Amino acid sequence: MSADRAKGIILIGAPGSGKGTQAKKLKEQLGYAHISTGDLLRAAVKAGTELGVKAKGFMDEGQLVPDDLMIALLEEELAGPAASQGFLLDGFPRTMPQAQALDASVTIDKVVDIQVPFELIEERITGRRMSPSGHVYHVKYSPPQADGVCDKTGEALYQRSDDTPQKVQARLGKFDSETRPVIAHYQGKGVVVGVDGVGDPDEIFTRIMAVL
Ligand code: AMP
Repeated sequence: MSADRAKGIILIGAPGSGKGTQAKKLKEQLGYAHISTGDLLRAAVKAGTELGVKAKGFMDEGQLVPDDLMIALLEEELAGPAASQGFLLDGFPRTMPQAQALDASVTIDKVVDIQVPFELIEERITGRRMSPSGHVYHVKYSPPQADGVCDKTGEALYQRSDDTPQKVQARLGKFDSETRPVIAHYQGKGVVVGVDGVGDPDEIFTRIMAVL
C-alpha cells in the first residue's frame, strides 16, 4: 500500500442520520470527492437513464436497488478522479455483497457510524424538504425563510417520494437487516468509529473531525 494512496472514508448510518449533511461539510474541509449513491440514483431517475428506469420502483418503495446495479455504479465512480483525490462514500455500501465488492477494489481507512435513535429518525425524515439543486431544509429545525421556497436558489422545495412515514419504516427495516451486518464487518477490521448523531450539525461535524 503506497503512503500517498488516496484515503477512503465511509459515512454509514440509518436513513436520516445526517450522512449527506456531514459529507458535504467534510468535502469542503478535506477536499475529498463526495460519492452519494442516493444522489446519483435520483439524478439517473430524473434524466431517465437505463439505470434510473430500473432503480425508480425500488426507491419509491423504500427498498434497496439490486446489488449488481449498485456495484456497477460505484465502480464507475471510483474509476474517475475520486480514487486519486480521496473519497467519502455516503449511502454505500448498504449490504454485505456491496461491502465485499468495495473491499476487493479499494482500501477503506475509516467508517464513521453516525448513530441516531430510530425515534428521532422519523421526524427528521418526514420533515425534510429538498430543493432541486440539492439544498436540504427541515420544516421544524431548519425551515426556509419563505414557506416552500429555497433560500439560495428561489426554487420550489419538494418532499422526496420515499420520505413518507410508511416508506421510512421500510427503509429502517432494510437498515437493520442489511446494513447493520456491514457495520459489524468493518468493526471486525477495526476501522469503525461511532459518532453521536444527535444535535446541531456543526457540533456533529466537530465530533466527526475529532475522530478522523
Ligand atoms: P439515500 O439518499 O442514501 O437515502 O438513498 C435513497 C434510496 O436510493 C434508497 O432508499 C435506496 O432505494 C437507493 N439506494 C441508495 N444507495 C443504495 C445502495 N448502496 N444500495 C441499494 N440501494 C441504494
